Amino acid sequence: MTSTAELRESSAPLEKIPLESYVPPAKPSLLGLSRTELAARLGDIGVPPRQQKMRVQQLWHWIYFRGARSFEEMTSVSKDTRAALAEHFTVDRPEVVAEQISNDGTRKWLLRLPSGDTLQKAHEVECVYIPETDRGTLCVSSQVGCTLNCAFCHTGTQRLVRNLTAGEIIGQVMVARDRLNDWADRETPHGNRLVTNIVMMGMGEPLYNFDAVRDALLIASDNEGIGISRRRITLSTSGVVPNILRAGEEIGVMLAISLHAVRDELRNELVPLNRKYPIAELLQACRDYPGASNARRITFEYVMLKGVNDSLDDARLLVKLLKGIPAKINLIPFNPWPGSAYECSDWEQIEKFSEYIFNAGYSSPVRTPRGRDILAACGQLKSETEKLSAREREALRAMAMTD
Ligand code: SAH
Ligand code: SF4
Repeated sequence: MTSTAELRESSAPLEKIPLESYVPPAKPSLLGLSRTELAARLGDIGVPPRQQKMRVQQLWHWIYFRGARSFEEMTSVSKDTRAALAEHFTVDRPEVVAEQISNDGTRKWLLRLPSGDTLQKAHEVECVYIPETDRGTLCVSSQVGCTLNCAFCHTGTQRLVRNLTAGEIIGQVMVARDRLNDWADRETPHGNRLVTNIVMMGMGEPLYNFDAVRDALLIASDNEGIGISRRRITLSTSGVVPNILRAGEEIGVMLAISLHAVRDELRNELVPLNRKYPIAELLQACRDYPGASNARRITFEYVMLKGVNDSLDDARLLVKLLKGIPAKINLIPFNPWPGSAYECSDWEQIEKFSEYIFNAGYSSPVRTPRGRDILAACGQLKSETEKLSAREREALRAMAMTD
């Protein structure tokens, strides 16, 4: 059982590190590679093929089960191999440059990543840990910013976007385990964990970064490493229909759909991707989602916007639309952010809406906003990566035009 009070003492508190001091890594990190890719890297540094499988097993165990932060710690690996690995690679995670702890125990980490271009020194993303009585959920980002511009989402206002690599995605889980001292120790290898669940609900649209998200989630759910069951991993999408089926087939995690409106006209406005993949197509993809069943329901997320989508008519239509889909509905009170154009529905209205859905036979929990005081709640994440100078903005624009 996990609770705020039981949070293990973590590493020393972090003050935000200034961007000027950022030094991009000199060597590549092995995080995010599959076993086959790891074997190839070992081959590159001269490990003979007959040894590769065993060495990969060892590395996997040290990196993903024990959470080793250097090759030196990997005492079961031969000294020569450790030295060769350290010469060419690291097991570094994204750099944690700030940590904020909410008065409800929620923790938000700001991570700095190499930008890979000359216009900006670094990119930043956030990831959030939410402790509850029976679980600890890590909300993970898939992109820097998001291209989709949903009207109520802070992340969508961030202009600069890049996909995270698989290493940067799994790196968020590893950073959380580092900061929470949540790695397996020798005495209690399967002991209580603080991070028990993962939700791909941070910054970005995970199905627009499919391969990296898939590779990272396959590592997260691998039993010989991080070992978080696929039933405890939820991928949330605003509705990238062609990749929904792929997510079921290639990743096999739980699915959440950011529905938010029951009529195309309104959904076009709130979730502009709806113009490409309208509600009927989206729901068909849900009906076809492999593995969905009454025991493995699809979650429909519905942000409660006052006077916009919160009438009982909306609730009625919602129930009608979801007929035949093994579904649960998650009502999310709108979390405001500086400059947002919406208001959260009144509590009474949220309760009425929830009651209607419940009476129609659906589980309809209202998501308690967590970490609002540190802007860590749903839709509040946004890094400052976009703050470019006028000259840099101009250069980016010119680059985009030539794409
Ligand atoms: N891009 C993905 C996952 C990230 S958003 C998606 O859209 O599903 C995670 C959830 O938070 C989504 O359901 C999103 O619609 C919701 N959300 C975004 N902004 C919000 C806000 N200001 N208040 C409450 N929920 C919000
Ligand atoms: Fe992107 Fe999701 Fe925010 Fe929409 S709600 S802008 S898809 S992160």
